[in-house]
Amino acid sequence: MLYFDNNATTAPDPAVVDAMLPWLREHYGNPSSAHSLGTAAAEGLERARRQVAGLLGTRHARGVVFTSGATESLNTAIHSAARAAGPERRRVLGSPAEHSASLRAGEALGADRFEREELPLDRDGRIDLDHWIERIGPDCALVTAIWANNETGALLPREHIERVGAACRAQGVPFLLDAVQAAGKVALEIDALPVDLVALSAHKFHGPKGIGALWVRPELELAPLVRGGPQEHERRGGTQNVPGAVGMGVAAELAERHRADGTTLARVARLRDRLEAALVEGAGATVNGPRDEGSAPAAEARVANTTNLEFPELSGDALLMLLDAEGLAVSTGSACDSQHTAPSHVLLAMGRTPAEASSSLRFSLSRATTADEVEAAIAITLRSAETLRLLGAAAGPVGS
Ligand code: PLP
Repeated sequence: MLYFDNNATTAPDPAVVDAMLPWLREHYGNPSSAHSLGTAAAEGLERARRQVAGLLGTRHARGVVFTSGATESLNTAIHSAARAAGPERRRVLGSPAEHSASLRAGEALGADRFEREELPLDRDGRIDLDHWIERIGPDCALVTAIWANNETGALLPREHIERVGAACRAQGVPFLLDAVQAAGKVALEIDALPVDLVALSAHKFHGPKGIGALWVRPELELAPLVRGGPQEHERRGGTQNVPGAVGMGVAAELAERHRADGTTLARVARLRDRLEAALVEGAGATVNGPRDEGSAPAAEARVANTTNLEFPELSGDALLMLLDAEGLAVSTGSACDSQHTAPSHVLLAMGRTPAEASSSLRFSLSRATTADEVEAAIAITLRSAETLRLLGAAAGPVGS
């Protein structure tokens, strides 16, 4: 299998699996138990918390709340901010390019009490910073943002996070950042940022599924969404997933080490650029999302591993199936939408027509992707796109 769907999920690093196994086999204690099996589990959990704090770049490891994944982290953050908001705070301000977890959690707050306001995007998926800041007011209950877009890889520049966060502080509004696709791809260093809540998911950086984290600034109280026992300092009830947390901790340490050394990401970016250039040139594809040229420097525009390409006139679903038959795994949109043929909400918000959005595929690499795999992916995609064109599958209203 040529796996180019790493924004959906990544293969667990073998070191992560090795680290988890003893916590499944021998150290199976409940971290809340007073006996030695329990205290060993509690120590494993706290080590993992410090490792996740290391990836986030925070001294406040106690702010890390383990959850079942970023969907729960985002739901918890949004629910908690809404509960804390006074009656005059009715607006949740965000971007239409955010993950469906943020969008749906915002909607679930109830239209009679809260209104989710979506900021307009340009064709590269960027938000006008001045307009964004203008819209942050004393009637906001929460501002949400996505650091790296899962579909296009578009990055929110650090300066924008700083300026939006400062505006939030000035208005007393909590600022929630979805850092799921940014983790391990950019320096997070959240202690230097005016952010209050940060969501992570382990399986996006070679950790296990079913474990994530929500980091909460120490001054902020978090109302639990999952209620139960006093676990996670009363911020998330339920016996902790110790093997998952241990795996997430090791994955976090590895992700941060690879990011910090610079060579891994530079290599991934070169491979992504090679893939992108070959498909633009050979299949007439166009890039959805910010390109390296333009106002933002390359490292600020897009994460290194992602390219979202429109194959004009071709059905993305049909192309995906042909690629899959050849052993190449890609995606037509966000992973959570892979069972649906609805065009990507992110591409639509970027001004693409339903037909253009339905002709688009996302290729996402990882630190494990090799140059040979990229060459094979290029050859298969060019051949399959040509086959589809010859079959005339392009004819007819794509994505209508
Ligand atoms: N946020 C982003 C940007 C994502 O890409 C995802 C997963 O696709 C999530 C949140 C949700 O993560 P999980 O499905 O692990 O809960």
